[in-house]
Amino acid sequence: MLQQTQVNRVRDEYYPQFLAQFPTLKTLATAPLDSVLAAWSGLGYYLRAKNMHKTAQICQEFLPKSFQELLSLPGIGQYTASAICSFGYKQNTPVVDTNIARVIKRYFALLHVKEKTVWEYAQRLLNHKEPREHNLALMDLGSLICLPKNPKCDLCPLQNNCQGKEEAERYTQKQKTIYESLELFYGICIKNGKIALTPTTGNMYKNMLSLPAIDPIEENFLGSFKHAYTKYRLHVKLYRLHSYDEAIWIELNSLDKAPISSLTKKAIATVMN
Ligand code: SF4
Repeated sequence: MLQQTQVNRVRDEYYPQFLAQFPTLKTLATAPLDSVLAAWSGLGYYLRAKNMHKTAQICQEFLPKSFQELLSLPGIGQYTASAICSFGYKQNTPVVDTNIARVIKRYFALLHVKEKTVWEYAQRLLNHKEPREHNLALMDLGSLICLPKNPKCDLCPLQNNCQGKEEAERYTQKQKTIYESLELFYGICIKNGKIALTPTTGNMYKNMLSLPAIDPIEENFLGSFKHAYTKYRLHVKLYRLHSYDEAIWIELNSLDKAPISSLTKKAIATVMN
């Protein structure tokens, strides 16, 4: 949930609501995918919700304890598998998230290294007596002391042996993201308090609904907005549609329960306001 959404919103809103609706793996496994996607609505990257649902269906009651078994489940990569092993099952395994990676790269002065190398150093650094506390401490160190900019080396318990502290920021400089601009055109057809939506295509948004993509007719222009999505910078333009044959009609006042993306929500809000 934290991949694209601020901590406060996840902690206060999405996470408790999701857990209230799906308190166990079993309830998640038996829930229809539509309701899982609706609960995920607004968090983006819907493939994560679908994978979590699939994983729940495979496991039913409990997640496996073996790192390799966890890795074989949909949506579980090295970080998630290690976090489950370390924090959930207290196993002797390193964890590397963004914060820990930053500490490790600086502590060992690793310049332009692959992710795999960072994991190897994390393994070397691991405290085998208290691996869980070690991982939690490194996460806190990264988020509170070893900050991306202006790290507080004077307060850091690792300062005596840190090899990269003199030029700390050099070891964690981000590569420049290359953004791609796209123009998208959607039709808005509203009748009797309902809006026409259509099933989305493509793996990312499978099982979701969106506005119909159309060829624009300028005289029907209703409005536009900008939207950022991963490396894409989208310019979305909306046009009035008088009819849409293959529509799935959704009540405007129950849109919050529909599996729609934040882009679709934003588009509807643009023409309704
Ligand atoms: S001494 Fe500075 S650069 Fe090194 S780990 Fe601590 S905060 Fe990060």
